[in-house]
Amino acid sequence: MTGDTLRPGEVTVPFRETRDAGLFLIGHLHIPFVECVHCPRQGPPDGPICKVELFPHWDQALDGIENFERIELLYWLHQSRRDLVLQAPGNTDGLRGTFSLRSPVRPNPIVTSLVTLAARRGPRLIVRGLDCLNGTPLIDVKPARCAYTPVAADKPGAVG
Ligand code: SAM
Repeated sequence: MTGDTLRPGEVTVPFRETRDAGLFLIGHLHIPFVECVHCPRQGPPDGPICKVELFPHWDQALDGIENFERIELLYWLHQSRRDLVLQAPGNTDGLRGTFSLRSPVRPNPIVTSLVTLAARRGPRLIVRGLDCLNGTPLIDVKPARCAYTPVAADKPGAVG
């Protein structure tokens, strides 16, 4: 689903958007998978060791990440096509809307995985649990949501 071939019933749209969000890519993911067919659909926690390589100037931005066993990575599936509105996922019958799927094929192929942090070495993290191709660009690194307690007090509107 990353190439030019459409499956029966699939629908594309021409791009009309003119703005972009000006993302900064912060590094790359080094993964043993070199073809999509070898990537899992979702990275299993006991998957192969992978290296998250941030550009060296982001090294300090990782300070404190060692305190978390589980972290969330956001990355950009750079080989995805981006123009499908209806898709025929390989593992189900029929067509589904792009935004009802976690397919890599989407207008902005930003995806996320919760991974297990095994080690930090300067601007490099050693993790398990990724599902993407070697060389996939990295967008962000955060502690896993449930492991993270905000330091700041609740906002007035916060409930329960
Ligand atoms: N865990 C993420 C999520 O749910 O947000 C991504 C799930 S997506 C189904 C993972 C699939 O994307 C892989 O199995 C592979 O087929 C495809 N993929 C991986 N890396 C890619 C890349 N750099 N460009 C395009 N497709 C990629």
